[in-house]
Amino acid sequence: MVQAIQIHRHGGPEELRIVDLPVGEPGPGEVRIRHRAIGLNFIDVYFRTGLYASALPLVPGGEGAGVIEAVGPGVTHLAVGDRAAYAGPQGSYCEARVMPAATVCKLPDAIDFDTGAAMMLKGLTAQYLLKKTLPVQGLQAGDHVLFHAAAGGVGLIACQWARALGLQLIGTAGSDEKCALALAHGAAHAINYAKEDFAARVREITGGRGVKVVYDSVGKDTWEGSLSCLRPFGLMASFGNASGPVEPFAPGILGAKGSLYVTRQTLFTHMATRESTQAMADDLFAVVASGQVKIHIGQRFALTDVQQAHRALEARKTTGCTILTLP
Ligand code: NDP
Repeated sequence: MVQAIQIHRHGGPEELRIVDLPVGEPGPGEVRIRHRAIGLNFIDVYFRTGLYASALPLVPGGEGAGVIEAVGPGVTHLAVGDRAAYAGPQGSYCEARVMPAATVCKLPDAIDFDTGAAMMLKGLTAQYLLKKTLPVQGLQAGDHVLFHAAAGGVGLIACQWARALGLQLIGTAGSDEKCALALAHGAAHAINYAKEDFAARVREITGGRGVKVVYDSVGKDTWEGSLSCLRPFGLMASFGNASGPVEPFAPGILGAKGSLYVTRQTLFTHMATRESTQAMADDLFAVVASGQVKIHIGQRFALTDVQQAHRALEARKTTGCTILTLP
């Protein structure tokens, strides 16, 4: 038996209950991993509230790091005793779990468990956003991009990675302190969108031209303003709903705003194969090992205090990554 957090119905943080659950042996293509740390992500909130569909009861959580305890038939890239980390299907809020091996990667010795647990889902997201989301025009050094919630988990990684790629990242955040944090992590400009009209500021910063890409995980509240920040043929990369889902829209608006593109991608499409997952993870491990991206763990909560962790995340009180710790 392992200690785990489970929800039996969708709702607020109070639905996150401590339970004891059996953990079995891995089947074909599976491993059992004993967690040393667990990553907290905003997507966990969507599964808790029911915005994203799932069967109940559910052990939430899609990120963790630990030690491989057992390996099922057919798994060749992991062995018992390996240090490992993953972004994967929900089920990580627990001491140990059986899960598909395909999304689990060996963790390089230079990366500790806390960092591994904090960075996989968020770092792989930053990876595909910056490197795989713009096939049409591509990004070049010097290009302006706009990244909302730049002081958050994905945000602070994206700020640093964008700087390493030579991009001029304009970050938005909900307070002056968060703006300062985004700037300290490589954002070229930061806008406090709680106080300022971010679309007007983006026009000012870019000399009226607009940005090539907007990375928007805030959703409902920023959608319209984001479209106004794009230059002609620019790309709206919507990837989250922290303020609520984007309302349905008429495609004509894209023509009116300058022949824009819109995409809504998810990490797990990019991680469809073991090879693509490993390639993305290797890229992430390399940029972290080089020191160009440092994983900022802003908060730690015990697994059993996960209700507090969810409250802090939803109240916009966290910065960078948050991890859940185990005794
Ligand atoms: P963050 O640490 O970025 O937390 C979310 C942030 O969103 C808050 O800190 C807050 O920053 C901002 N925000 C704006 N409006 C609201 C609101 N009404 N309520 C709460 N927060 C708000 O979370 P993560 O790093 O875990 O994830 C960032 C985003 O990326 C999430 O929306 C997540 O769903 C998305 N995501 C998408 C993936 C994909 O593949 N599509 C994969 C991984 C993450 P501020 O106060 O500065 O505004």
